[in-house]
Amino acid sequence: MTKDKWSQARKKLEPEQRETLAEISRFRKTLKYELEYDLEEGDPNIYERERILALLRNLEEMLDSIANALSLIEEGTYGICENCGREIGSARLEALPHTTFCIECKALTEKGGAARPAGQLAL
Ligand SMILES: [Zn+2]
Repeated sequence: MTKDKWSQARKKLEPEQRETLAEISRFRKTLKYELEYDLEEGDPNIYERERILALLRNLEEMLDSIANALSLIEEGTYGICENCGREIGSARLEALPHTTFCIECKALTEKGGAARPAGQLAL
């Protein structure tokens, strides 16, 4: 992978990071509002809250991946799968610039359930 490709990836990742952060803070505000509302009104919105929490978890994972990808660009190892060390296809990196796993390893981690356990979200 060339320096030029790295700077292209960074140009995609940085706005993505900003947007993800903005979305997280928007959902957190919604959640805070829901919580305050619930104190007075009983708990009519538990499903909505679960849905927002799930969305927030996805966004935080996304943010982690983006930060990770950016640090790999800094280290000069961006584009190499963190699991198997093979080069990640450039089409895959174009489509998902935050990815740090090749398609095979990504499929494995998704099956293995690397997701964070529920309830670890720091509000
Ligand atoms: Zn791999």
